[in-house]
Amino acid sequence: MKKIIFILGSGHSGSTVLDKALGSFPRSHSLGEIFFFSRIITSDTLCSCGKKYSHCPFWKTKRKLFCTKHSIKEESIKKFRMHLLPFGEGGIFYRLLDTIDLTLNLLGFSILLNNENKKIIKNNIFVFDLFQHETQIDYLIDSSKNFRRALFLKNKLKNKSIFLHLIRDGRAVIFSYLKKTYKVISTDEAGELQTREYKRKESNPHTIIKNWKRLNTFLYYYFKYFLSPKSSYLIRHEDFAATPQKTFQKMSDQLGLQLNVDALDLTTESHMVGGNSSRINAKNIHAPSYKWKTGLEKGIRQNFEKAAGNLLSKFNYPV
Ligand SMILES: [Zn+2]
Repeated sequence: MKKIIFILGSGHSGSTVLDKALGSFPRSHSLGEIFFFSRIITSDTLCSCGKKYSHCPFWKTKRKLFCTKHSIKEESIKKFRMHLLPFGEGGIFYRLLDTIDLTLNLLGFSILLNNENKKIIKNNIFVFDLFQHETQIDYLIDSSKNFRRALFLKNKLKNKSIFLHLIRDGRAVIFSYLKKTYKVISTDEAGELQTREYKRKESNPHTIIKNWKRLNTFLYYYFKYFLSPKSSYLIRHEDFAATPQKTFQKMSDQLGLQLNVDALDLTTESHMVGGNSSRINAKNIHAPSYKWKTGLEKGIRQNFEKAAGNLLSKFNYPV
């Protein structure tokens, strides 16, 4: 049984740790934000194993295999596109095709009119095959989060895909976005891991609220009316963080997966692409943080509850 598990949801909802946790089970593998495949595996940023992608033995082997199978030179990987072009790029004709493509795919057809999209979807499937071919892997976890890409792939993969909607209380999401710093892991000259703090660009709370609400409303209805309970599951970040094994067992039962939840272990070696520094740092799953309850500015919280209170209730968050 080979399945691709797509994690969908808004940023700052804990998808990196969820991906890492799901990938820690025997016969499953975390891909991370694999749609950055070409950009990252040729770079000097760090793989979740702690080594630079360019030095990681796992990625070195995969890269070689990839190039042989695809008959391309290693330098050409950089040109290999895995993420769809921004909606509307390339003039009115392209936009029209893109809209028709999206509508057809929303209705469950896998017809793609746009050649560029066809090529990109083929590339994605090629990379999935790279991992599944000649391996014991049953579950590949993809936390790229891009809904449009996942939708196009779902229709191509037929019943091989599973959609997870990861939701985190929007007030905690805003609080996380508004933190002034973020951490990046790198290696120093001696090859030791170093965590550095960087200043974050200022975010507009109004935009965060709008985006959180729009995406989660869309996913709420899409999951409710377009997906079967056999191939989709809702995970609340707070439940997962508080009781990961219980959450995975429920998910595994509903989806008919064979996850051995007792084997959950974040120290298992992984080779994820992208995501935040917890892809390397996280050695266990921390209980959910409620610092936003005291730390989030009152006015922002009120604005959020006014704009998205109904949606919070739909996901059983107290308002
Ligand atoms: Zn690695």
